[in-house]
Amino acid sequence: MKDAIVIAIDGPSASGKGTCGRYLAGKLGFRHVDTGAMYRTFTWHCLQAGIDIGQAPQVVEFLRRWPAELVTTSDEVRLEVGGKSAAGEIRSDEVSNTVARISPIAAVRIWMVRTQRECLRFGSVVMDGRDIGTHVFPETPFKFFLTASDEVRAKRRKAEGSGENTAERDRRDSTRKVAPLEPARDAVVIDNSHESPAVTAEFMLAHVEAKRRQLGL
Ligand code: C5P
Repeated sequence: MKDAIVIAIDGPSASGKGTCGRYLAGKLGFRHVDTGAMYRTFTWHCLQAGIDIGQAPQVVEFLRRWPAELVTTSDEVRLEVGGKSAAGEIRSDEVSNTVARISPIAAVRIWMVRTQRECLRFGSVVMDGRDIGTHVFPETPFKFFLTASDEVRAKRRKAEGSGENTAERDRRDSTRKVAPLEPARDAVVIDNSHESPAVTAEFMLAHVEAKRRQLGL
């Protein structure tokens, strides 16, 4: 959609991207897009189909025949397969432990970036992920990079009931050759280790509103 606005939020696991992203989207009347859920959905379908994750050609062949489509509600855009989003299944430890081995595959990233850019056909979005400000929408003037200490992020994951060791996934995401996790040069970097999600999200909202006034958007 012409004139649609993109707010990009990147950061490692449990950095608060999702909570702050949904809050911002709600306040602005934009749709939220959780791009991690897209990578997880593809990973879950690979596992269901018995694809050997270690064999990139098998993964890429499956990607070509994967019947996923973008669907929207009033508050989000997400991927569905056969009318289902697999929202619960994609949070399993099995998916969490596998997704960062699939996300570095170049063909997977090309497919995801194209699909994420297509989300704009539904209007303005708040999109969170690892490479939104650097690769998916490098042209947006609204970019945030959220961080929190390793200790705080580990505590948050535990409170969510996850048994995953996220350090290994964060290491893979930050060191991969294609689109590694890193802040865009013009991103506002926020360490929210000692802030509540509400305070962080309100700060982000104030920044977005000031920038919109400055740019006339
Ligand atoms: O955000 P979440 O923790 O659900 O992301 C799951 C995984 O998907 C990440 O660890 C990363 O490997 C991959 N991902 C990515 N690029 C994005 C979003 C997620 O590579 N934009």
